[in-house]
Amino acid sequence: MSEGYRIGAAGVIPRVGFISLGCPKATSDSEQILTRLRAEGYEVVGTYDQADLVVVNTCGFVDDAVHESLDTIGEALRENGKVVVTGCLGARPEQILERHPQVLKITGPHAFDEVMDAVHEHLPPAHDPFLDLVPPQGIRLTPRHYAYLKISEGCNHRCSFCIIPSMRGDLVSRPLPHVLNEAIRLRNAGVRELLVISQDTSAYGVDVKYRAEQWGSREVRTRFIDLARELGQLAEGPGSDGQPLWVRLHYVYPYPHVDEVIPLMAAGKVLPYLDIPFQHGSPSVLKRMKRPAHAENTLERLKAWRREVPDLAVRSTFIVGFPGETEEEFQVLLDWLDEAQLDRVGAFKYSPVQGAPANALPNPVPEAVKQERYERFMTKAAAISAARLQQKVGRKLTVLVDAIEGSTVIARSYADAPDIDGTVRVRGSRALAAARVGEFMEVEITGADTYDLRAKLA
Ligand code: SF4
Repeated sequence: MSEGYRIGAAGVIPRVGFISLGCPKATSDSEQILTRLRAEGYEVVGTYDQADLVVVNTCGFVDDAVHESLDTIGEALRENGKVVVTGCLGARPEQILERHPQVLKITGPHAFDEVMDAVHEHLPPAHDPFLDLVPPQGIRLTPRHYAYLKISEGCNHRCSFCIIPSMRGDLVSRPLPHVLNEAIRLRNAGVRELLVISQDTSAYGVDVKYRAEQWGSREVRTRFIDLARELGQLAEGPGSDGQPLWVRLHYVYPYPHVDEVIPLMAAGKVLPYLDIPFQHGSPSVLKRMKRPAHAENTLERLKAWRREVPDLAVRSTFIVGFPGETEEEFQVLLDWLDEAQLDRVGAFKYSPVQGAPANALPNPVPEAVKQERYERFMTKAAAISAARLQQKVGRKLTVLVDAIEGSTVIARSYADAPDIDGTVRVRGSRALAAARVGEFMEVEITGADTYDLRAKLA
């Protein structure tokens, strides 16, 4: 952009560089800050030398993320010099100041006002009330056709390996009408897939005692099932262009009330997909982890859900080598996985996070044992994934096109969340001619490998 274009109260448009690290919840925070920056007339630029100031949204979940965040802050200081830090690592300012005392300001996660105050202080806005710089759906970091929809902040649980509640606080649910209005704006802007995120989606509304709210001529409650039902209706609601709107639920725990959403999946209103971070299969380890719903019989629940929705795709993450994990407990996890037959599985070797209560637990698992268990776990998970994908060969599926790379259409089915799951790779000249990025297409599955499917136009 040429200097001649830069206008404003002081004769220039102030320019902010933005770096977003971490999980989808951090991405959602970044989108909120970017929306505010643009609303106030800041230009968001992509290089350090174009920027007058840089905001770094950090992650502090595991030690690798802490290192990446600290390195990124260092790079921004070196290349630009004016740096505001926000996000999860910002909840531990001493760790940042020890390495980078010259940062302008440090705020914790979800501290939008404080970030904006810091930006105002070090880079005043250029007021131009005649410019409307923000599209109605706000600023998004995701492609135009899918978007994260954050329904709450914080968490009421206290898992022993996690410091998120100390960084983000207790659960604060957004009123359901706010969430629905944002979903409608996104749908109207061409979004085809809503990814519902939070720290615990199944706990939505607990903090406000499932408060009733007015929604049009009806009353809705700020609770999990109302959220799923109302989002599931948006594809057919007023203003819809008649295209499907995928609703994908992330970070759900296997509580009994989650059963209520299964009929919505059976009816095609909500994607038959659940992202449930089980973390382990051994009841004794889950108890030491202080996991939500650790006393539930998750295998029975999974079976009941699949009886109602045979196609249900379940993704999960696990921790191996948690302090005190014995070979017997690990074997319980492997047996659990055999029986659970999850579609999508990721695993981490336990690593202590500064400030987490689990660090004080006795009998840490040696690194070599963690590595060996991780490999055994992933070998089993990969075999289950390959077998489950093989069952899809020959079937017809609706997919959403993410990209076209050379002669291959990269798409996803209902069983694939962006970035974390697999893809459906569609080949053939007819498919290439028909495919449009951000639109749905019907395909026939022709092959499968461990994590991805191959297909042709149906
Ligand atoms: S549910 Fe547990 S792991 Fe997830 S944010 Fe809450 S305390 Fe952390």
